[in-house]
Amino acid sequence: MSRIEIIQFKYLSDNYGVLLHDKHNKKTVAIDAGDETSYNTALDAQGWQLSEIWVTHHHWDHTDGIQGLYERWQCKVIGPAKDSTVPIAHLSQGITEGNSFLFADSTVKVIHTPGHTLDMINFYLPSENILFSGDTLFSLGCGRVFEGDMNMMYNSINKISALPDKTTIYCSHEYTQANGKFAINVEGDNNSLIARINQVEELIAANKPTIPTILELEKQTNPFLRTSSTSIRNKLGLKNASEVEVFSALRTAKDNF
Ligand code: ZN
Ligand code: FE
Repeated sequence: MSRIEIIQFKYLSDNYGVLLHDKHNKKTVAIDAGDETSYNTALDAQGWQLSEIWVTHHHWDHTDGIQGLYERWQCKVIGPAKDSTVPIAHLSQGITEGNSFLFADSTVKVIHTPGHTLDMINFYLPSENILFSGDTLFSLGCGRVFEGDMNMMYNSINKISALPDKTTIYCSHEYTQANGKFAINVEGDNNSLIARINQVEELIAANKPTIPTILELEKQTNPFLRTSSTSIRNKLGLKNASEVEVFSALRTAKDNF
């Protein structure tokens, strides 16, 4: 049995925070820290003490709580070593592609997935089969390309799709329902997608999260992981285009959807 306990909670309008707790050493990690109060409420509800924050990228909805949490907990802040267009407060360990470190005796691999921002870091725990994908991969969608370019984002999404199918993915936003509306518009004949959308409707109606998701399910349903789909290519009029051209057309279409 894993010695890591995980809880997920909502903050702001559609962000997800996650706490990872090491049951042996009683250490606790926050994935991002966009809102001090929500994170402290979640920690206090568990009776956990914050020891580390792992920051995915510099956007305010992921970082605004760092200052306050640092003041209360004197925690370590681990995040992107470079390319943050806004500096990460109290950064104590800068990380980059290929780095790894330990939490609860589990290896944490650092995957750089630029595109949404240039500094975006994803955290992968192979022994737990868990990925924290930040604003790179969402369920049924992907992040908007703000700082990078389409080629960069496509390569980043490919790094994620190369992970094992059974990987559990925690992303940072509850966007699944809206993403599903776009996905079904570009691939209306995908039965796995229809089933996932029905499941998502039920979860939302019951006020339950659609996150985490599983990579295998995303490969079957997420258009941004399905750039070779004949039906998507026909819909976009890009039968013989390259994968990155299809990806780029999908991202642009979603921006205007
Ligand atoms: Zn963001
Ligand atoms: Fe965000």
